Formats: sequence, structure tokens, C-alpha cells
Amino acid sequence: MAKKQYKQLGCLDVDPKGSCAFQVRAETEEEVMRLAGEHAKVAHKASSLPPEMAAKVKAAIKTVTVDA
Ligand SMILES: [Zn+2]
Repeated sequence: MAKKQYKQLGCLDVDPKGSCAFQVRAETEEEVMRLAGEHAKVAHKASSLPPEMAAKVKAAIKTVTVDA
């Protein structure tokens, strides 16, 4: 069976004490960051990501292997 690798990120990975269960999965880290940024804008009213927050978000991205 073919396996596919994805980058995955969830709000709980960045803020375990938060109550947002949003999770995003994409093929590249850039796409994850883009989708997470859009989510942050809409759901968390974060118009821009401070550099230290972006670093935290990037560090929280996991690689997952999924059966294709
Ligand atoms: Zn969220």
C-alpha cells in the first residue's frame, strides 16, 4: 500500500491550553503555514503573526504518514 507523507499542525500543538481543535494537513510546510495563517486570521483575529509566534508554529508542525 502506498504511503504518503503530510505536514500536520493543530492549534492544540501550538497552544495545548487552548480550546481550538482546528487541525490542518498539507503536503508542504509552506502550505500548512499558509492555511494556519488564514485560520488564525479568521478564528483567532490574528491579522499578523509575530516572528516568535511563527517560530513556535513552525516548531509544532509534525510529519505524519498516511495510507494513500
Ligand atoms: Zn485555532
